Amino acid sequence: MENKETSSNFIKTIMEEDLRSGKRDAIVTRFPPEPNGYLHIGHAKSIFINFELADQFNGRTNLRFDDTNPLKEDQEFVDSIKEDVKWLGYDWEELHYASNYFEEMYLRAVLLIKKGLAYVEDLSIEEIREYRGTLTEPGKESPSRSRSVEENLDLFERMKNGEFGNGEKVLRAKIDMTSGNMNMRDPVLYRISHTTHHNTGDTWCIYPMYAFAHPLEDAIEGVTHSLCTTEFEEQRPLYNWVVENAEMDTQPQQIEFGRLNLTNTVMSKRKLKQLVEENVIDGWDDPRLPTISGLRRRGFTPESIRNFIRETGVSKGNGAVDKQMLDHFIREDLKLKAPRTMSVIRPLKVVITNYPEGESEMLGAEVNPENPEMGTRQIPFSREIYIEQEDFMEDPPKKYHRLYPGNEVRLKHAYFIKCEDFVKDENGNVVELHCTYDPETKSGSGFTGRKVKGTIHWVDANDSKPAQFRLYDSLILDAEDEEDVDDAQEKTFMDYINPNSLEVLDGFVESNMTGLKPNDKFQFFRHGYFNVDPKYTKGDDLVFNRIVSLKSSFKLNK
Ligand code: ATP
Ligand code: MG
Repeated sequence: MENKETSSNFIKTIMEEDLRSGKRDAIVTRFPPEPNGYLHIGHAKSIFINFELADQFNGRTNLRFDDTNPLKEDQEFVDSIKEDVKWLGYDWEELHYASNYFEEMYLRAVLLIKKGLAYVEDLSIEEIREYRGTLTEPGKESPSRSRSVEENLDLFERMKNGEFGNGEKVLRAKIDMTSGNMNMRDPVLYRISHTTHHNTGDTWCIYPMYAFAHPLEDAIEGVTHSLCTTEFEEQRPLYNWVVENAEMDTQPQQIEFGRLNLTNTVMSKRKLKQLVEENVIDGWDDPRLPTISGLRRRGFTPESIRNFIRETGVSKGNGAVDKQMLDHFIREDLKLKAPRTMSVIRPLKVVITNYPEGESEMLGAEVNPENPEMGTRQIPFSREIYIEQEDFMEDPPKKYHRLYPGNEVRLKHAYFIKCEDFVKDENGNVVELHCTYDPETKSGSGFTGRKVKGTIHWVDANDSKPAQFRLYDSLILDAEDEEDVDDAQEKTFMDYINPNSLEVLDGFVESNMTGLKPNDKFQFFRHGYFNVDPKYTKGDDLVFNRIVSLKSSFKLNK
């Protein structure tokens, strides 16, 4: 991997200092997704930070499935997460499932009860909420709080044995009902849920809450720096309380960084799931989504995603990053790598009336003029070709330098052609052009006799391949970021879906495009970068996703 360095940042500084002072002798991090959805580019930031930072200190990073909530989790998500992490270029040291720690977590909870630091609560969740107080009022202690250790041990065991129904009892930490930090007002540690778990089956009917489970998981694995997003900042005192009072051997340190958000899209798994379930899009890997699998299917490369995330940096801020910055990095990545070729997306037939009938020729062209090592290709040319509909106008405005009656243009890699006449159908649409060509003007012949102002692309009409082109626009309109959508009164993000986010067109590509594999990438002259769609391309049925157009107004601030 080129340029592995993350530039200096506050987390790196903490790690450096911990190694220097001897507080830690190695750096251990983890990426801890909940397997309840597919990974998105926000997760890629977390992956990047955890793996790259540990790697810089020759440390280790685990992949841990935080699968403590039996209701929402699924093997499909586990598999996709592993695939995505690998695809992004990272190898985990150890693979863990938080659910494998259920026994140990249970024993730690029993330890807290024995120490008088946890109790079984009879109040309902609503009552617990009422008793908790507010930011300005202290909470009230529950009658259950004064239970004896023996009674708590007995009740907790009976909870585990399935003697109570869902919601009848919970286990709570006994901390401080007057704390200024609401998370410290006797938070719930365990709840009852008679639900089959994807890993542990029906072994358990009590499940640990995230705030209790997560610090234990980190400590069990010897994680030194537990990196998470800033919404967990308020939970840090509880995190430390759990590690300390459960008497864990290692003391991981929680450090928060800012979430990554993108403009004109949605990221939260809940919303992505809704889009999938309501069939608004074509599954979790729809090329319009910011999921890793969607970006992959669209044609983004791991390098472009990593470079984008490196550029956004590590800070506490949560601002939305312009999607165009991601586009910038894929253009950079593909500029020298992608073969260049021609495609016609909205075809208009052109007959070259002075080209001999029944004849054809091969024209040579470089595969990528910016990277001569990629060699040359042969493009067939004959009496009938396709050009783009928008490259002809009957009545052009000023400064239109493409084809119109009497005007001459260059066909890329071929000849000058001049528009002599055109044919309309009964609806008045132009369906065919009649042009003449000048054999003297062959590309590469050194012809200097006269100049033309326009160069247009084309493919041979008799020797080209049909292809489908899928052109994308933002999925979400008119909103800077997710928060704008959420803040809008009486509207949900579903009201902002762009009805024109996908356009499917049938056209043609050069006939030399053979042996294509899923996710092969090309630059189509004037149209942009495209990816061979891995889902819809079957044999000779070629389907291309547009990754990005060629031009951008976006400038990196350097
Ligand atoms: P979402 O809110 O999108 O549903 P999540 O936070 O619930 O995501 P998890 O599976 O719990 O998803 O996340 C795994 C890790 O990825 C966590 O450490 C989380 O903080 C981090 N993460 C999730 N979203 C982002 C984001 N937008 N930017 C940076 N890190 C993120
Ligand atoms: Mg989560």
